Amino acid sequence: MDFTLTEEQRLLVETIREFVRRELKPLEEGVETSGYLADEVASEIQEKSRGLGLYAINIPREFGGGGLSVLEWMMAEEQFGRTSDILIRRAFGNVYEILLEASEKQKQTYLLPAVRGERTFSIAFTEPEAGSDAAAIKTKAERSGKGWILNGAKHFISDGLFSDFFVVTAVTDPATGARGISTFIVEKGMTGFTVGRDQPMMGLRGTSHVEMQFKDVVLSNDHLLGHEGQGLKLALATLGRVRLAQVVARSIGKATLVMDQCLDYARERRQFGAPIGDFQMVQQMLADSAMEINATRLALWHTASRLDAGEEVRGSISMMKVQAAEMMGRVVDRAVQIFGGAGYCRDLPIERYYRDARIYRIYDGTSEIHRAVLAKQMMRGDSSVYDIYG
Ligand SMILES: Cc1cc2nc3c(=O)[nH]c(=O)nc-3n(C[C@H](O)[C@H](O)[C@H](O)COP(=O)(O)OP(=O)(O)OC[C@H]3O[C@@H](n4cnc5c(N)ncnc54)[C@H](O)[C@@H]3O)c2cc1C
Repeated sequence: MDFTLTEEQRLLVETIREFVRRELKPLEEGVETSGYLADEVASEIQEKSRGLGLYAINIPREFGGGGLSVLEWMMAEEQFGRTSDILIRRAFGNVYEILLEASEKQKQTYLLPAVRGERTFSIAFTEPEAGSDAAAIKTKAERSGKGWILNGAKHFISDGLFSDFFVVTAVTDPATGARGISTFIVEKGMTGFTVGRDQPMMGLRGTSHVEMQFKDVVLSNDHLLGHEGQGLKLALATLGRVRLAQVVARSIGKATLVMDQCLDYARERRQFGAPIGDFQMVQQMLADSAMEINATRLALWHTASRLDAGEEVRGSISMMKVQAAEMMGRVVDRAVQIFGGAGYCRDLPIERYYRDARIYRIYDGTSEIHRAVLAKQMMRGDSSVYDIYG
């Protein structure tokens, strides 16, 4: 077992860290204040990221991506995690692996332009009546001639204002429950497809989260992604790694950044004639955060290595999702405490980190749902999630 980074891996980490520090961090405050990232700035970020070979770095080389292993992808995402959600989206591309399941024709129309940064897309599964219970969706696609007619509504869809197309779940066979759900690609501008209100959120300023309606949207078979009735299976098979990357690795990156700032503050801020870092109760908070960050990263690397080895790690992904989201919550909460009033005041970014971190326990499956998945996996006899010799 060797955790030494190769020269290439070290270079990858340093390149992204420096790119984030130099190009993205200076934009954060402006986005936070205005709640908006101008399209021309977004394009500049995409261009610079592409120039460094960082855009769509998770996608295999044969489709124009960076071709990273899962472990390297996690290292890259950790570094992107050091900035705001919207800036990561523009720099990294968020090209979800679900499009790798597309047909050859669909790959030409959707995947390749997405990898080149010419088109952006979002995942649209959640509905007002169906969040955790993804199989309870009401959006339906009915056969019509050689195609489909789509009707329904989604909400909370990230980046919906910016995205050009959406991967949407819809019921195609109401009689068969979860096995009657299919996935479609729906393009902005299609007749009957409306991108609605940008729903205001606690944090993640600059990223839109939209409602959308489908009213008699005409789709052809070329819009069906994967096989009919395989929608949830497809999502399950392809979104696990995304969870690991976008929640787990990014949490670790954010927590590491916050930790650096806590240490600087604990050295500089003086009370009772001494740096606050000299007080044991502050030291305990620093030590607890460091221990949790380190443990989460090592567990992520282990899960990523297992994925690279082709192992089935569904339970471990759920475990990592909860562990990282909750670690992040505790680290930012301690950060507010260490910074005292300055941590609560909007003059510093600490309160923003605190608000932004809260979503991690909710999206991509809540902590409760992932705990349930993990427990079920263990109850079925899989002890590998806690006993690596098992
Ligand atoms: C900022 C943001 C961005 C998002 N982006 C996207 C996106 O891009 N695409 C997309 O499709 N969705 C997106 N979502 C939706 C997100 O994935 C859902 O909010 C999430 O899955 C939870 O669903 P829900 O909000 O309907 O909560 P609910 O499912 O109603 O859950 C409410 C509470 O009940 C608990 N609960 C529910 N069922 C159980 C159970 N069986 N056992 C124990 N507890 C349970 C939950 O854990 C939670 O605490 C986003 C949401 C937000 C807030």
